[in-house]
Amino acid sequence: MADFSLTLNEDQLQIQKWVHDFAENVIRPAAHEWDEREEFPWPVVQEAAKIGLYGFDFLMNAMVDTTGLTLPVAIEELFWGDAGIGMAIMGSALAAAGISGNGTPAQVMEWVPQCYGDENDVKLGAFCVSEPDAGSDVSSLRTRAVYDQASDEWVLNGTKAWITNGGIANIHVVVAAVEPDLKGRGQASFIIPPNSKGLSQGQKYLKHGIRASHTAEVVLDDVRIPGSCLLGGKEKLDAKLARARERGHSGEKQPAMATFEATRPSVGAQALGIARAAYEYALEYAKERHAFGKPIIMNQAIAFKLANMITEIEASRLLIWRAAWLARNGGFTNAEGSMSKYKASETAVRVTEEAIQILGGYGYTREYPVERWHRDAKIHTIFEGTSEIQQLVIARAISGLRIE
Ligand SMILES: Cc1cc2nc3c(=O)[nH]c(=O)nc-3n(C[C@H](O)[C@H](O)[C@H](O)COP(=O)(O)OP(=O)(O)OC[C@H]3O[C@@H](n4cnc5c(N)ncnc54)[C@H](O)[C@@H]3O)c2cc1C
Repeated sequence: MADFSLTLNEDQLQIQKWVHDFAENVIRPAAHEWDEREEFPWPVVQEAAKIGLYGFDFLMNAMVDTTGLTLPVAIEELFWGDAGIGMAIMGSALAAAGISGNGTPAQVMEWVPQCYGDENDVKLGAFCVSEPDAGSDVSSLRTRAVYDQASDEWVLNGTKAWITNGGIANIHVVVAAVEPDLKGRGQASFIIPPNSKGLSQGQKYLKHGIRASHTAEVVLDDVRIPGSCLLGGKEKLDAKLARARERGHSGEKQPAMATFEATRPSVGAQALGIARAAYEYALEYAKERHAFGKPIIMNQAIAFKLANMITEIEASRLLIWRAAWLARNGGFTNAEGSMSKYKASETAVRVTEEAIQILGGYGYTREYPVERWHRDAKIHTIFEGTSEIQQLVIARAISGLRIE
């Protein structure tokens, strides 16, 4: 077990600086353009792949860090650069986490690298859980997976909604109902290999923020995949279903829930990066901008806003680091992952709004980045578990009760 320390080690400091430099020199100058274009920023992701920031190796190196802090530290810098481009770079990690969380070691080695490709041929992964009628309530997925014993194939049908990299990914990881009556306990995760017949992109969503990140519907129309694409294997699934049928309540986590739980500190780190960007910008602005003959920061009304912003940011980082450390060292006991995501997301929304206020009229225009950061921050209270769902998870953990 690694000790919990607030002092980053040499490797972590190096990675922090490396990502920060890329965010400052490559991502920030491109951020406004890709937000306006509302398209996937392929050239920037290719640059990230060239230096090894987008890729399987980077993710693996970050994951083996026993303190758990490398990933949130890197993500904070990346999203400090820009959240839309940051999501374009991090989106495949959710698919990778879905595979690692549910797949056998052989499946992880086969499919996770294919979510990234290489520097000369960049590929993407997509993790497809949400549906038009099932976002927070992932236990009621309608997408069906039916086993065809004669051909040892699975046949998938359904529609997935709001999928990051949906339709443009090389690998789609799809969570589907095998036995709908068992709700979440009757679900399994599947790999849809590249160019599978029957998988297509539905509508591409036009969004409020993180507009450089691609979000679309994924339609599955009689998609046939080999039996080996069931993550974890058939034997394990059959045993799980049998237990669920017998007991009616197996106590096992849904595959989608398990993935989201493990990735929550990282999502908190995304929000933290946006909040810090807005705070730093607003602080500098408040020192320069004069009104009534003095810098606006000389008014307590403005200075106290900044004091509150940095306090909330620092508190969020402490929760994120603690949760990231716990995820690698002993696990969560009181929904600490949810606490970190909840706190950082709400902080990012508040801090970016205050940053607009501090910049006044300029802050409201697209000439300055703070309005973009505010738009980008908002998604963090919605995806990977809304703020209300985080509160629900925390409330259940502290009470031991099935609070509705
Ligand atoms: C840009 C973007 C990217 C996304 N990427 C992905 C992706 O890659 N893969 C994926 O699978 N999904 C993705 N999503 C989907 C996202 O995870 C869902 O939108 C989210 O989980 C919320 O689900 P919903 O939209 O159906 O809202 P609903 O579940 O309908 O919730 C609506 C409101 O009701 C509240 N609510 C619901 N149930 C309760 C309750 N029990 N108690 C209290 N309040 C409740 C919610 O908090 C929310 O405020 C993405 C979404 C967006 C917008």
